[in-house]
Amino acid sequence: MKKIIALALALATICCFFTACGGNADEDKTLTMATNATFPPYEFYEGEKIVGIDAEIAAKIAEKLGMELEIQDTEFGSIIAGVQTGKYDIGMAGMTVTEERLKTVNFSTTYATGVQAIIVPEGSAIKTVDDITPEHKIGVQQDTTGHIYASDSVENGGYGEDAVVPFNKGTDAVAALVSGKVDCVIIDNEPAKAYVAANDGLVILDTEYVTEDYAICVAKDNEELLEKINTALEGLIADGTVEEIVNKYISAE
Ligand code: GLN
Repeated sequence: MKKIIALALALATICCFFTACGGNADEDKTLTMATNATFPPYEFYEGEKIVGIDAEIAAKIAEKLGMELEIQDTEFGSIIAGVQTGKYDIGMAGMTVTEERLKTVNFSTTYATGVQAIIVPEGSAIKTVDDITPEHKIGVQQDTTGHIYASDSVENGGYGEDAVVPFNKGTDAVAALVSGKVDCVIIDNEPAKAYVAANDGLVILDTEYVTEDYAICVAKDNEELLEKINTALEGLIADGTVEEIVNKYISAE
């Protein structure tokens, strides 16, 4: 046990050393963005490359900041911790601003709205959100707001932990729905549309579950970067760039 502690301390010291020395010009020019690239049209793979609304907006922000954007794909649930510890400069992943998350990271100005949607197989007995009960199996993406709301207690508008089946990727939740392992999937509406388009026999219910705001997360102690990002992002919203990028990926209904 002592050895492990000693090793941990040694590692922590080495890490501190590198962080302290990390302020060289090259590193300062790179804007590291953590995302989870299974979230079309915000972030997804096109061949080897991560593309989408978030990737394009981030590239424009980096350009305004005179920095080079580097996108790192990780599990959605590790983004906030990674930003908090400085492993990544920003997290941008169709990420919803919540009170809970605001306790650990700061959020930029919001740049998009998300809606939690419900996907069911065609002909499902679940016709509206009110038909979902704690006896159903509800697929969600791990650590997302859909996961958080659905696993909340019934009194708080959720269905309880036992009803919820979390998956690492949204695509895995949808695959489980297609194979009948879960009865519905609660996930953000734009990826929901993409998943339904890519899989036969699925529909999105008309009823909306929750509406939320997307923003970029930045470490609490990095106010300077947050300000720069907000200035750049607000400029891109004001001059119509953000709208143009969104329209490129999302056709108006
Ligand atoms: N908007 C949801 C959240 O912030 C889902 C984001 C995602 O899966 N990339 O929790």
